[in-house]
Amino acid sequence: MAELLPRVRDLVLQAKAANMGFNIDAEEADRLSLSLDVIAELIADDALIGWDGFGVVVQAYGQRAGPVLDWLYALAERHNRRIMVRLVKGAYWDTEIKRAQVTGIDGFPVFTRKPATDVSYIANARQLLGMTDRIYPQFATHNAHTAAAILDMAEDLSAFEFQKLHGMGDALHALLMKRGDTRCRVYAPVGAHRDLLAYLVRRLLENGTSSSTIWLTKLELAPFSKSRRTR
Ligand SMILES: Cc1cc2nc3c(=O)[nH]c(=O)nc-3n(C[C@H](O)[C@H](O)[C@H](O)COP(=O)(O)OP(=O)(O)OC[C@H]3O[C@@H](n4cnc5c(N)ncnc54)[C@H](O)[C@@H]3O)c2cc1C
Repeated sequence: MAELLPRVRDLVLQAKAANMGFNIDAEEADRLSLSLDVIAELIADDALIGWDGFGVVVQAYGQRAGPVLDWLYALAERHNRRIMVRLVKGAYWDTEIKRAQVTGIDGFPVFTRKPATDVSYIANARQLLGMTDRIYPQFATHNAHTAAAILDMAEDLSAFEFQKLHGMGDALHALLMKRGDTRCRVYAPVGAHRDLLAYLVRRLLENGTSSSTIWLTKLELAPFSKSRRTR
């Protein structure tokens, strides 16, 4: 905390001065508590007053995602802040499984079946859509079914945004933007070749999953209908 916090705080204050958004990414599960300690200090910091650009990333494949969202909401309320939360499914699934196996622990910190992560994402999204007085949800996904579920659940389409990675999910997000009633932010990496190599490998691994393509045709054919609401 003594070393990390002042460095992050300095970056956060630079972002605030430039009126930019600043999200703390989610990494491996064993770093979650450490990240939350840093995040708690930053949210409590009076230097952030008057700026809603501080954000946190939460991974829906993590079994602690729901309680983490409740914890963030309570923190924002306690300090009278409004924060952003980017909901992702989680990019380190293989690593999490491998680590848990190597250390021989009883369970896994992440869900072990893809449908469980999808359901968790939708449950977490619903949770976030009920917290918009304190949290600005940012739904980062390239999965058409997940995006459709969010549109179906949301009452106020201006209370959140979708996010995509530059170069991925283009067709889906073009369709979402064509509706004209939702926002979409594109996350683009910036840096030198050496810094971006690990990032590139992660994206290549992700591109191997094809669960979105199956749903895209259905999304084009069947526009969302509020009358199908099942909540
Ligand atoms: C703007 C943006 C920012 C991001 N920032 C982060 C970040 O800070 N931290 C981070 O970890 N990720 C981040 N990601 C990546 C994200 O976590 C997902 O890996 C990626 O978006 C793929 O999910 P999907 O919903 O788009 O696709 P889908 O194909 O629907 O989902 C793929 C995801 O399902 C999950 N999954 C796959 N197999 C299994 C299984 N057997 N059991 C359980 N779950 C499984 C994994 O999470 C996998 O990534 C970001 C993504 C975007 C778009």
